[in-house]
Amino acid sequence: MATRLQPVDAVTIGVGLTGSLAAYEMVQSGLKVVGFERGAERETVPDFQSPAIHDELRYSIRKAFMQDNAKVAVSFRNTSDQTALPIRRWESFLPGQGLGGSFVHWNGQSFRAQVADFVLRSHIIKRYGQKFLDACGPELTIQDWGVTYDELEPYYDRFEYLLGVSGKAGNIKGQIQPGGNPFEAPRAREYPNPPLKEPYFGAIFRKGATSLGYHPYPQPSSNLSRPYTNPLGLELEQCVFCGFCERYACEHYAKASPQTIILPVLLKNPNYELRSSCEVLRINLDSTGKKATGVTYVDGAGREFEQPAEIVFITAFPLNNVRTLLLSGIGKPYDPQTGEGVVGRNYSYQTTGGPTVFMDENININPFMSSGAPGTMIDDFSGDNFDHSNMNLPFIGGQYVGSIMTNGRPIEFHPVPPGTPPWGLEWKHAVARHYNHTILIQQHGTSMSSRLNYLDLDPTYKDAWGQPLLRMTFDFPENDIRMSQYIADKVVEIGRAMGGKTIIRGGTKRPYSVTFYQSTHNAGGAIMGDDPKTSVVNRYLQCWDVPNVFSLGGSAFPQNITYNYSITIGALTLWALDTIKSKYLKSPGPLVQA
Ligand SMILES: Cc1cc2nc3c(=O)[nH]c(=O)nc-3n(C[C@H](O)[C@H](O)[C@H](O)COP(=O)(O)OP(=O)(O)OC[C@H]3O[C@@H](n4cnc5c(N)ncnc54)[C@H](O)[C@@H]3O)c2cc1C
Ligand code: SF4
Repeated sequence: MATRLQPVDAVTIGVGLTGSLAAYEMVQSGLKVVGFERGAERETVPDFQSPAIHDELRYSIRKAFMQDNAKVAVSFRNTSDQTALPIRRWESFLPGQGLGGSFVHWNGQSFRAQVADFVLRSHIIKRYGQKFLDACGPELTIQDWGVTYDELEPYYDRFEYLLGVSGKAGNIKGQIQPGGNPFEAPRAREYPNPPLKEPYFGAIFRKGATSLGYHPYPQPSSNLSRPYTNPLGLELEQCVFCGFCERYACEHYAKASPQTIILPVLLKNPNYELRSSCEVLRINLDSTGKKATGVTYVDGAGREFEQPAEIVFITAFPLNNVRTLLLSGIGKPYDPQTGEGVVGRNYSYQTTGGPTVFMDENININPFMSSGAPGTMIDDFSGDNFDHSNMNLPFIGGQYVGSIMTNGRPIEFHPVPPGTPPWGLEWKHAVARHYNHTILIQQHGTSMSSRLNYLDLDPTYKDAWGQPLLRMTFDFPENDIRMSQYIADKVVEIGRAMGGKTIIRGGTKRPYSVTFYQSTHNAGGAIMGDDPKTSVVNRYLQCWDVPNVFSLGGSAFPQNITYNYSITIGALTLWALDTIKSKYLKSPGPLVQA
């Protein structure tokens, strides 16, 4: 029997990126907020300090910062006629656990989305026609978002200044800026900090890409290029290119994370209470099913509590957001047979991979000296930046291409050319020959939503509290394969222009496998839109069916964008919170009429 606690104004389910933003904005408005975090409380000092934080076995291989999948896994299958099995070892994506969430062990690659991304369906039909879209795959279920880039621009700006993003603007108020990305959407002003210094691999990529007429630019990065004080008065330091960024926390206060940009202020606020090691099991509804009354959770000692609250923010990472909605009976679950229902619909992923370029022995890359987002990029093949109308096989979408080498860590980084034995003396010689003379190029891009891909509750497998696991049914749509393979050919040409001696071609293949890392930009499943028949939340991320529940994060994306998506998640979250503060708190109820 759960113990009922004193009511509070609002709760967040999870205290990562979106959870800390939501709590901060609400306490600023005078609300009493409780943040529930299933993982432990942790701070830069002492938890993220050297030498312990550079333990590759513990963090990269055994995934110490990731969701404990002995307790809560995700089950997976490629198609709905298969039986899903639980993923007991994370590889393809790495959802985090612990105060700060995945935004502690992220890379810091800090892109905005493009204007067309937010109106994708309308844009594609306008530019290429409905027939073309149908030819890309009748199973595609792409949608417009219900919010535009122009509406989000001020929130992108606010979020970038909160993080202290280091970059070079390519387009300020419509004026193309030398040195920046000429394809980027217009921004109001420069980045808060200049770009990171370009590593040698980036300079080689720049030369090769420029020689082919492409437009290289420095990757925007939340690994800071210089000391910076953010608008909350928090001080960040300069990145030292330590080579232990993604999958690790920053010991130097040089990576924007909840611990460096917001939590020190939030945790001091008397209106805020963090409850760590607390697993929220479900959102409780009143007898009408139209109002949330709070949440039920289990603390670290296994005791069950009911926490009444006026507003519930689901801020648990996209996959957990969708599961929380399904476990709580909020919104109609998606049925792939009929196409009806919304929760779990339009789950999408991202297309990644890229060539490995083996260079001459006189080219010394020093890959160990790097940061999480040190890349030199081109956007010539991103989104709809190139004409898709005359392809052999029709497709939509695109990928950014760039050299983003984040580490030369000994267990993970040992590129060898094709034909090398997988172990033994010959393998060791090949590693020694190529370790310092190999450049990785990334292709990273869109994945379109499809009626065949979705999330639901697993009928067999349960978590440590006896609740069904989330089940993922996913394979890349044929559209994505065509897109990625088309770009893979172009990238091999760049590799040659860089002076590559041997090149292993990249590009996404089917079937999708969860056995190697691709991207932790899982999207959709609780998507936003302007019609409750095809979306779970409205343009302010408010659940259509239960208006005092807001589902924040990448679960709102109707399909996935070209870029690493956290800057868009941050902008979208701040946009929603602004309206919650200015409208909802004054007059609770639906912010958009269905
Ligand atoms: C290795 C890696 C590299 C990445 N690099 C980049 C990058 O370079 N650029 C980029 O844009 N994005 C990157 N990302 C993605 C980025 O980390 C996420 O987009 C971001 O953290 C999502 O924010 P969130 O608030 O939705 O989830 P999180 O930040 O993960 O926070 C969710 C929190 O909710 C908690 N939680 C979940 N369920 C419950 C429950 N039932 N009860 C209580 N607590 C719960 C979790 O423990 C977690 O702490 C990367 C991710 C990974 C893993
Ligand atoms: S690479 Fe830079 S930002 Fe990343 S963990 Fe190291 S010092 Fe911090």
